[in-house]
Amino acid sequence: MSARKKVVKIEEQVSLHTLAARMGVKATDVLLKLLALGVTGIHVNSVIDADAAKLVASDFGWDVEDVAVTEEQILEHARGNEEDEAGPLSPRSPIVTVMGHVDHGKTSLLDRIRQSKVAAGEAGGITQHVGAYRVKTSKGTITFLDTPGHEAFTEMRARGASLTDIIVLVVAADEGERPQTREAIRHAQSAKVPVVVAVNKVDKPGADPERIRRELGPLGLAPEAWGGDTLYCDVSAKTGEGIEHLLEMISLQAEMLHLQANPKRPATGTVVEALLDRGKGPLARVLVTDGTLRTGDVVIAGAAWGRVRAMTDELGRRVAEAGPSTPVEILGLSDVPKAGDTLYAARDQKKAQALAEARRTKAGKVQASTPLSLAGLAGRLAAAGQLELRLILKADVQGSVEALSSALSRLSTDKVRVNITHAGVGAVTEGDVNLASAAKAIVVGFNVRPTGKAASLAEAEGVEIRSYDVIYAAIDDVMKAMAGLLAPVVVEKPLGAAEVRELFKIGKLGTIAGCMVTSGSVKRSGKVRLVRDGVKVWEGKIAGLRRVKEDVSSVERLTECGILLDGYSALKPGDVIECYEMQEVAATL
Ligand code: GDP
Repeated sequence: MSARKKVVKIEEQVSLHTLAARMGVKATDVLLKLLALGVTGIHVNSVIDADAAKLVASDFGWDVEDVAVTEEQILEHARGNEEDEAGPLSPRSPIVTVMGHVDHGKTSLLDRIRQSKVAAGEAGGITQHVGAYRVKTSKGTITFLDTPGHEAFTEMRARGASLTDIIVLVVAADEGERPQTREAIRHAQSAKVPVVVAVNKVDKPGADPERIRRELGPLGLAPEAWGGDTLYCDVSAKTGEGIEHLLEMISLQAEMLHLQANPKRPATGTVVEALLDRGKGPLARVLVTDGTLRTGDVVIAGAAWGRVRAMTDELGRRVAEAGPSTPVEILGLSDVPKAGDTLYAARDQKKAQALAEARRTKAGKVQASTPLSLAGLAGRLAAAGQLELRLILKADVQGSVEALSSALSRLSTDKVRVNITHAGVGAVTEGDVNLASAAKAIVVGFNVRPTGKAASLAEAEGVEIRSYDVIYAAIDDVMKAMAGLLAPVVVEKPLGAAEVRELFKIGKLGTIAGCMVTSGSVKRSGKVRLVRDGVKVWEGKIAGLRRVKEDVSSVERLTECGILLDGYSALKPGDVIECYEMQEVAATL
């Protein structure tokens, strides 16, 4: 053995199977290692990313080398050498997002600012919706993103676009801090974006602007007057009071940030919105963040590329170029990019096109076999904060209850906690369903079935009952659900049930059960399950279905029939033969 490190080469991602083969170990050993590392929802055919591969390979004494040409490298080639343009930076105007609790006046404030600038003499006014608009103040220009609210902001952030320089937090003076106010503060703090507080609705009789300062101060937004560094501004979107002051405060905050860009470089921007216009084709509203975008430029944004055919600004004017912090609507893309995609101007049209196509192929592949990455999983779950998956477990024997409940509890991660609300032996009862409904839990049945009215109650209450007869399958589904990766599942569609009344032993054939179909119908082609006192005792197919003396393909409710099971003879009067079909449906766990 050489003393050199053993190296596995992969291109960006690798299937668990291949990785194991290259290291000369068993795929199941790699799988177990990954599970132990807390990766959920995987099997031996899963595709894992380079980071996860590196992590697991090191445990086997291997190094992973990612030999894929990175997108950045390709992009760099497409954009061309930029060093020649590395000139001095110029100041740029701030990009502002308005956030706050619903009904506290975000939209009114944005409208008021827009209108006051119309009054200030912009010919024609801000008529065109291009995703953002600029406002001129005595202290400089401010760019406001048009869509207030948290979703747009978090979506952009989730896609890696940090478009916002300053957040204006709108808080109604007559209501005070509310859940979404706190949420906005958390977003701002985690993105390290400074906040200017607009205390709105000060015209209202119940307004108490000082109270807002008292409430927000302890949340990390101590006002300047108290020795903190957060700017507050009392405004009324209704009367216009304080609006000019707010704009000044935003400019003041912006000055402190020393925002800069280089207008001489090829443009970089962020897609704020994009859509397919029937007449004009793909249309993207872009905020240029650095450099200058010009008509005729070749651009790439996500999986779209093209040559900028026309640009329009927020005043509805055709413009030939757009510098840093300028919003424009552009035409000429091959496709509709996604909000949050970064747009780059490129010198090399062929390379830009090739990259866009490569991205599209990759996006298709990702959808087909979502590669698992530790970071990806974490990201998806982080969006929802801590999640709790509540389960009610029912199984045929105590041993299974214990095995299942400890296996499922162990799946808990710090993001998703599996909470076994209740676990017990026996069929799934109405009581279980009621509990599940109250606790917003899912019922997991192992080798047991719903009895009495449990199934119909579950349907009425919207409670999900999932039945399994392999522990691994139950664990696997829960893991997949936790990772948000649950694939469409094949579920059974009940057809009907028959009760065994009498038994006839017929020579070599076996035992024919004289039955009464008590609900739905029993089909010769269906699958069946033999249930005794609510517990499944056998599962299989029908070998023969007879009505009087005829072989038939199906028997309806309240009809007597003879059923011969394919490979089971130890039936007893009172047993229930449940008949069902398998059907593929979208997963909802
Ligand atoms: P958003 O949900 O935060 O966008 O809130 P809106 O802008 O839709 O405003 C919610 C309600 O508050 C509307 O009925 C507005 O007319 C009202 N409103 C907004 N700003 C003011 C204000 O400064 N004073 C008063 N009196 N009402 C306001």
